[in-house]
Amino acid sequence: LSKRVQTFTDSVIRRMTRISDEYGAINLSQGFPDFDPPKEIMDALAEAAYKGPHQYSVTFGAPNFREALAQKQGKAIHRAIDPNKEIVVTCGGTEAMMCAMMTICNPGDKVMVFSPFYENYGADAILSGADPIYIPLIPPEYEFDITLVEQGFRDGAKAIIVCNPSNPCGKVFRRDELMAIGELAVRYDAFVVTDEVYEHMVYAPNKHICMASLPGMYEHTITCNSLSKTYSITGWRLGYLIGPEKVFEAAKKVHDFLTVGAAAPLQEAATVGLKFSDEYYEKLLQTYTEKRNYFLKGLDKIGLKHNVPQGTYFVLIDISDFLELPQFPGFSDLEFCEWMIKNIGVAAVPGSSFFKEDVNHLIRLHFAREKKTLDEALCRLEKMK
Ligand code: GLN
Repeated sequence: LSKRVQTFTDSVIRRMTRISDEYGAINLSQGFPDFDPPKEIMDALAEAAYKGPHQYSVTFGAPNFREALAQKQGKAIHRAIDPNKEIVVTCGGTEAMMCAMMTICNPGDKVMVFSPFYENYGADAILSGADPIYIPLIPPEYEFDITLVEQGFRDGAKAIIVCNPSNPCGKVFRRDELMAIGELAVRYDAFVVTDEVYEHMVYAPNKHICMASLPGMYEHTITCNSLSKTYSITGWRLGYLIGPEKVFEAAKKVHDFLTVGAAAPLQEAATVGLKFSDEYYEKLLQTYTEKRNYFLKGLDKIGLKHNVPQGTYFVLIDISDFLELPQFPGFSDLEFCEWMIKNIGVAAVPGSSFFKEDVNHLIRLHFAREKKTLDEALCRLEKMK
């Protein structure tokens, strides 16, 4: 086996889903909704089953899909996006990130990653040959020290990955933070690779700002995103990256040889969603705001300590008090999560899989669930106390 595959484990997030399924637990580990996508999208899929397309689309994305995407994301980036020269459609945000990394990194290049981070970034770096430099996000506000970012660029980092809103800590980067990172990327002629899959889950008064929309940043940003969360279609594996033409030319080659293309009938059906009016996104946010408030209130009632996410549908719970109890002798967070699945019937992700630092006292839950499921989960979590 290659050396590279021996340097990372399977995804702990996806592993927790498998264990959760095995024990029939309520799965609040891997984040995906338990409700249907919008009916218009399902109808369009049914139609595509008979009308097609059933053969390959253009490798970097079906023209109508890219056209609709350029319209929608052009508004977010405050710029006319050229659907033929600036968008590559990928198999999920996961491929978009991998493709971005393989497009810009040589073996041995350094890439900055904030910690805590979404666990894919570690494997993305290794698979593309890059060495991650971790920049801590300091709770409770998950602030970072910009001088460490500058140091990273000075040490030759090719890029910095910015997950905004941030999985797992729910941080939404402020304009001044993005400007500071962006200015350094320009000064050191480096890239910012963003992961913005939770862009529509940003809770008031926080606001989502695209790095690529900031002055001078378009040429230095590769925006990675996906339709998974926005349209509740995580299984469709539809993602994309947006970047300047030189990035696009390179990224489309990488993507072509990695996967050829995303599923043609699914692109056709999802195009309907990309054309939704703003009202859809407002409703989506309202739904998630209600879920967040409801779930956090439930956690408070039980007396579980947690952060308050500014965005995403994740919440980190502090389990320090539990780990001190005699019934959990020397338990790691992973062992605690396994115990939870088997004894409480709720699946979480151990926090250690998101941190470079030695963090063992946090678990991540998501609240992308119907209210009755959240009720049942809260009822079960209460038994932990
Ligand atoms: N982003 C989701 C999470 O963190 C999972 C995405 C995935 O598994 N591809 O749970």
